[in-house]
Amino acid sequence: MSKYWNKTINQTTPYVAGEQPKEGEKVIKLNTNENPFPPSTNVKKAIADFDVSTLRLYPDTNATSIVNAVAAVENVKPSQVFVGNGSDEVLALCFQTFFEKACDTDLPVLTPEFSYSFYPVYEEFYRIRSKKIPLREDFRLEPSDYVGVPNCGIAIANPNAPTSRAISLDDVAKICEANPDSVVLIDEAYAYFEEEYETAVSLLPKYPNLCVVRTTSKSYSLAGLRIGYAIASEELIEGLLRARDSFNSYPIDRLAQAVATAAILDVDYHKKCREELLKIRRYTAEELKAIGFEMPESSANFLFAKPPKCIDAETLYKNLKAKGILVRYFKTPGINDRLRISIGTMEEMEEFVKAVKEEITNAENS
Ligand code: PMP
Repeated sequence: MSKYWNKTINQTTPYVAGEQPKEGEKVIKLNTNENPFPPSTNVKKAIADFDVSTLRLYPDTNATSIVNAVAAVENVKPSQVFVGNGSDEVLALCFQTFFEKACDTDLPVLTPEFSYSFYPVYEEFYRIRSKKIPLREDFRLEPSDYVGVPNCGIAIANPNAPTSRAISLDDVAKICEANPDSVVLIDEAYAYFEEEYETAVSLLPKYPNLCVVRTTSKSYSLAGLRIGYAIASEELIEGLLRARDSFNSYPIDRLAQAVATAAILDVDYHKKCREELLKIRRYTAEELKAIGFEMPESSANFLFAKPPKCIDAETLYKNLKAKGILVRYFKTPGINDRLRISIGTMEEMEEFVKAVKEEITNAENS
């Protein structure tokens, strides 16, 4: 609290990111859903080829090369793409642009009860009323729970974090159809980690109220670069451009533009990494289930797993941390009996499984 801060800053509880170990510290980092594989080799080349003298000049405000790459890969018009400094920035601008009107209307934004923990922060920060929609059994999102509920916007992570569960495109369509006066934000940070990969981008021709948000942080292995984007109707994109230009008209630096473009255009490598990651996810889920963990079927690059009765999630989290293995534990009631475990390399997951087995054996014998 400070007398120099405005009321909003005094009243907002900021987002707390997953723990970042110090540079050089040797840990197995399975706590912030980063990709375990290196970025595309095209990224290295883009950096090597980068003309440093151009840093003298401001970058392209619209990050046109990224916009064009996304448009080509996703089969949409460039005017349907908005690029921001990480999808966190894109999401923040979406909440501001499409949902802040809640202040005037008294209507809430609907979000799933357990979802990305940044959403409640944006709601506080922009003073947006919020209504949490409970999830059903095993964290299943029921689309009809978003029908007939007065709202001024809807935000859903699909697949959802931290639950790892996804809804189908039919379900997304049902929600868009039932809420034509609200923007439906579908946060696809984890959308690429599925055998039958589906994206709500294909629904855009039908729903001008749909806004799909993506990131290069996860499936493109570029969390350190900070590039996210929205794909939506031209009307929604124009709103985001207005918001951006009222705040920071050069959010994407020149190097990031070159690097992200190179990564997005390497479609084959993107696919190869996904296939490898799915193999490791399958291995990890099977190993954990075999020793009594329970978890929903994951559609993301992490598992949301409940340890067997002999050890509680918090103790397991702490004991793994003491062994140099970081996973994510949320104290929130309703999900405080689980761990969110990012999928690492095969070697990392083998070590993780070995450490977990030791912990279970110790707990059973104590
Ligand atoms: N959406 C979800 C559901 C996430 O878990 C994250 C990562 N914490 C983000 C968006 C933001 O990702 P970034 O800002 O790295 O693009």
